[in-house]
Amino acid sequence: MLQADSETGPNQSGSTEQLLADAKRSILFTAVRPELVMERGEGMYLWDTIGNRYLDFIGGWAVTCLGHSPAAIREAVAEQAETLVNASPAFYNKPMIELAKLLTQLSGYDKAFFASSGAEANECAIKLARKHGALRLGGAYEIVTAVNGFHGRTLATMSATGKAPWQELFAPKLPGFRHVPLNDIDRMRDAVNERTCAIMLEPIQGEGGVHEADAGYLRKLRELCDERGLMLIFDEIQTGFGRTGTMFAFEHAGVCADVMTLGKGIGGGFPLSAMLATKEFDLFEPGDQGGTYIGQPLAMAVGLAVVREIINRKLHANAKAMGEYAKERLHAIKDRYGLSAIRGKGLLLAFDLGVPRGAGLVAECLAEGLLINSPAPQTIRLMPPLIAEREHIDDMLLRLGRALDRLFS
Ligand SMILES: *Cc1c(COP(=O)(O)O)cnc(C)c1O
Repeated sequence: MLQADSETGPNQSGSTEQLLADAKRSILFTAVRPELVMERGEGMYLWDTIGNRYLDFIGGWAVTCLGHSPAAIREAVAEQAETLVNASPAFYNKPMIELAKLLTQLSGYDKAFFASSGAEANECAIKLARKHGALRLGGAYEIVTAVNGFHGRTLATMSATGKAPWQELFAPKLPGFRHVPLNDIDRMRDAVNERTCAIMLEPIQGEGGVHEADAGYLRKLRELCDERGLMLIFDEIQTGFGRTGTMFAFEHAGVCADVMTLGKGIGGGFPLSAMLATKEFDLFEPGDQGGTYIGQPLAMAVGLAVVREIINRKLHANAKAMGEYAKERLHAIKDRYGLSAIRGKGLLLAFDLGVPRGAGLVAECLAEGLLINSPAPQTIRLMPPLIAEREHIDDMLLRLGRALDRLFS
């Protein structure tokens, strides 16, 4: 129903108060958001509608790896939009083929499937695991995942996710998932039975608060999967594309999975995800898996531009160096503020506060023009664009220090 009166009509004035009022009136409530509207981004910074500048250490949730509005994405979108926006998933297109070729060469996997979000890539991996179970393991369908792991927000990926508060949400859960504590190989062995078709986990848990799977544990998981014929899935949606200082996080342990899912950084802010598989797991038949935006040319062109940029500028190496520098700087202030467990790799970092006041610190940092994330009440996570330089880390520490002073004053 279209009404043109001033109450419900389109926002004419564009004032920030008006925008916020319109947001509250018309956007479905799913999240508590600060009282501001983001308008513009460039490099390491975002600007709101009243001109405040924010140093971005959230990075669009570990997404904007090249920073905000990078030339590589602007140019790829413009060029591809003039050539071909959508040919339908029924046809091959050039950027789709080129991106599949680049990703398989880069990762050592043989085959690529494309989608738009991380959850969709994981849905694809879950279906592939069940297909593997149906074809080769007598109908086995259970997937063992890690406690505190995160795999997405569709019903299947929420079921795969190992967050305790989610277990009761939107019941009934999809059956066929078991969760075991990370880094405990005995518990994993106990959870695997004749119904198991796959093991799925993040090499470094991101949303769970930056907790690493040990290299030795990953090697034992590989052995267990080989012994039992199980499919091993690494969810590298957060850790892929240079985030942890190597192109993919599995390189730290040198353990290869059968399937790897990718998202977030692959599109640098554009909705794009992928599932990669070895040729032994090229198991789908026509009709098993698809989607309207599979291999969508605009997304493919952006993915190509972003991944080439990461490779050419060696942004994984920059992430490694800047991550080490940031950790060093955090260690220097940790006693002063009671910080502990400074952890992570590359530019996926976290530390714990002595008190469960993460949300308070996030708010103080926002007031200081710094964006950070608190994935748990006592935990702070940093995941800035991979283009971050020393001056940005120094500026982050300065603002964080002022925010900590205020929080604890
Ligand atoms: C963000 C994330 C997902 C979900 O990706 P969406 O694009 O939000 O669907 C899945 N797994 C991991 C490890 C993630 O960090």
